[in-house]
Amino acid sequence: MKSYNYGKQYLDKTDCNAVLKTLKSPFLTCGPKVQEFERAICRYTGAKYCVAVNSATSGLHIAMLAAGIGPGDEVITSPITFLASANCARYVGADVKFADILPHTANIDPKEIKKRLTSKTKAIVPVHFAGQSCDMEAICDLVKNRRKKVYIIEDAAHAIGSEYKGSKVGSCKYSDMTVFSFHPVKTITCGEGGAVTTNSKELYQKLLAYRSHGSHHTEDWKYDMVELGFNYRMTDIQAALGISQLKKLDKFKKRRREIVAYYNKYLGLKHLEEETFSNACFHLYPVLVRARKEIYHAARKIGLNLQVHYIPVHLQPYYRKLGYKKGDYPYAEDYYAHCISLPLYYGLTQADLKEIVKRIKTLV
Ligand SMILES: *Cc1c(COP(=O)(O)O)cnc(C)c1O
Repeated sequence: MKSYNYGKQYLDKTDCNAVLKTLKSPFLTCGPKVQEFERAICRYTGAKYCVAVNSATSGLHIAMLAAGIGPGDEVITSPITFLASANCARYVGADVKFADILPHTANIDPKEIKKRLTSKTKAIVPVHFAGQSCDMEAICDLVKNRRKKVYIIEDAAHAIGSEYKGSKVGSCKYSDMTVFSFHPVKTITCGEGGAVTTNSKELYQKLLAYRSHGSHHTEDWKYDMVELGFNYRMTDIQAALGISQLKKLDKFKKRRREIVAYYNKYLGLKHLEEETFSNACFHLYPVLVRARKEIYHAARKIGLNLQVHYIPVHLQPYYRKLGYKKGDYPYAEDYYAHCISLPLYYGLTQADLKEIVKRIKTLV
């Protein structure tokens, strides 16, 4: 019996040839492919600047540093996300405040953000869950005209290719920085990898420095290390794959949207809704079911390796130790109790979709 995971990368001959060509070139890292990939991301998203990194987690970390976030500051994010969206604030010693989700999209609710804004708030990290953009204009409006600057750093790990009100996610029209992931479960992959986009030259220069030991090249052999940075660099091998994958993104998006439309039509299960402002490149297809645990196990037996996105971050033992508890974010907890993600990836054929729907129907 053919088995299906919730997600799967798609690589073709062109991708493999691009990697091979770079392997045979003089530069395996710090070469021209990284800049070429960064320029391609700028062209695609419309952002002025891009810094490629070795993961979205690294990207979120240096975005926090570039924004000058540190101890005593508060960062607001969603509880329905991957750990890294919250952990990045902890890396720099800031406190994490969660804001509950909107049940129909599982995206952070701007009204809940508003309730949690304080004089210590230094950043908001909206997560574009399952690929659908948060309501960025509403989030932007919350922080306009505040005495202290509040940075907006989009966690767009799910959302490359998505649009909000006609602009590409990553354009930073409504934010200071946007972070992408190119892990193989995401829409396009570099093996591991990430990128940060911004329209601010100042943030761009800081991101560049933090990516590489906090140092700036000055002249000849000289460089100044002014901040404590890291080695978060992407290799040219990864960038070559990224360039090749990015060329396929619009094709991936079209197919992903077709699959979502098919499931919406033929499964008859409760699913997330797409807002009128959104044109998402869907990364996940979660449905909400009553007996989630039973379905998860029964699905494995019939070749469906489904996944749960996500255990609310505030319920992780680490965050419980910081004072969070069950009941703090009722919509996130209710969503978690019922969600399960079905297979959604470019390689699925119509025959696969028919088969998956048939199998799911035996479970629910
Ligand atoms: C995958 C993911 C990350 C982390 O991405 P890496 O590239 O694996 O570090 C961050 N945030 C969200 C929402 C993710 O899904």
